[in-house]
Amino acid sequence: MIRSGTHTSIHAALLAGAISLILAAGVWSAKSESSTNIKNIKPLIKQQQGPAATDPALQPDSVKPAQATPVVHHTVQAGDSLSSIFSQAGASQADLNRIMKADVEYLALETLQPGTELKLTFNEQGQFRQLALDLDPARSITYTRVGEDTFEYQKTVQDTHWVSEVLKGSIHGSFYQSAMNAGLSRAQIASIQQLLEHQLNFRRELRAGDTFSVIIGHERTASDSTGNTRIEAVSLERHNRTHTAFLFEDGNYYDQNGKSVLPAFRRLPTANSFRVSSHFNPNRLHPVTGRTSPHNGVDLATPVGTPVMSTGDGVIERVGNHPYAGKYVDINHGNTYKTRYLHLNKIFVRKGQQVRRGEKIAHSGQTGRITGPHLHFELHANRRPVNPLKADIPTAADVPETALKRFEQVAQYKLAVMSDAASRSNLMLAGVDTKFD
Ligand SMILES: [Zn+2]
Repeated sequence: MIRSGTHTSIHAALLAGAISLILAAGVWSAKSESSTNIKNIKPLIKQQQGPAATDPALQPDSVKPAQATPVVHHTVQAGDSLSSIFSQAGASQADLNRIMKADVEYLALETLQPGTELKLTFNEQGQFRQLALDLDPARSITYTRVGEDTFEYQKTVQDTHWVSEVLKGSIHGSFYQSAMNAGLSRAQIASIQQLLEHQLNFRRELRAGDTFSVIIGHERTASDSTGNTRIEAVSLERHNRTHTAFLFEDGNYYDQNGKSVLPAFRRLPTANSFRVSSHFNPNRLHPVTGRTSPHNGVDLATPVGTPVMSTGDGVIERVGNHPYAGKYVDINHGNTYKTRYLHLNKIFVRKGQQVRRGEKIAHSGQTGRITGPHLHFELHANRRPVNPLKADIPTAADVPETALKRFEQVAQYKLAVMSDAASRSNLMLAGVDTKFD
């Protein structure tokens, strides 16, 4: 369903402001809900642990002592730390430490977002058993005690689908400002620049009045927005040239003729090759519990101070410091691919920065809890860690001959949708169904 197609593209620019205001309420409030204001309630301690809650001396005779409910709920507020949340709930710092250890291959806890719902579960004896959190309405994570000193990570994912939206605008001032005015986020603008920067120079070659159209996908469960978005198509129209990029079913972006818009990836993030001291292993067994405890990356035996490069063009998504993973960097390479670099010594990039394939981002080190210096490197495809030494990586190849006809139909359809849409439209698009989890 395409909502409205009555405005010409000339009017579209003029109307952009007014229409975004009208549609913003419907389209964007749903999106922001999932990240910030799922619930406006204060941290809610349903039941504190400990003897005070059931002290009969404090209860009037006619009232039965409250049963110690072994679950504590907490909504993360700005300024909260896990350490204070654990203390408040009556769980020990030692258990928090064990959970951070279980988190080392996932880094889900290092940057908790305000609004995240945490649930701490205890057994009848008051022993802490499980931490559960919802990353977004489709994804939840648990850390469950599986031994005296060990917790295990588990992720649950609901089915999601993508709802598409067209945003349009025209150039007045910088591309960045023009794109912000059209309703695009900083991260989306960075992705668009990354997709098209091998076709044009954004600083020098854009003129006032040039126009752009973007199809943004919004991920949803049956009932909620997850807050995740992706660029599904972009078209930038200059006086006599049009630059395009389309997300195809293989997760890669191609121009209108089916040519890859991004350069190939490097296989590994170091200039020289180093011994692999530990391989990628999704089935690794925990030495104590004997349960599966995957190694989601490959360890390279790099001495401290070895230059670490981004393996592809991308945008720095996270820079952090985890008690077990040490100093780390996450890079988003156009949404389908992501890379992660752990145990770094020095980091030369900051969140939001664009980097090129081969650009130095850090020096390797031995930060975090590790026995010797090395670089732990991860490659994720569609949110799943894959073996960086063996996985198919973007090779700058064109759409395969056998898929070209289908690709051309998808591209033509999206171009038509972008050109016909009003300056801001909500629509459902079939055709691209890259599976994210
Ligand atoms: Zn490792």
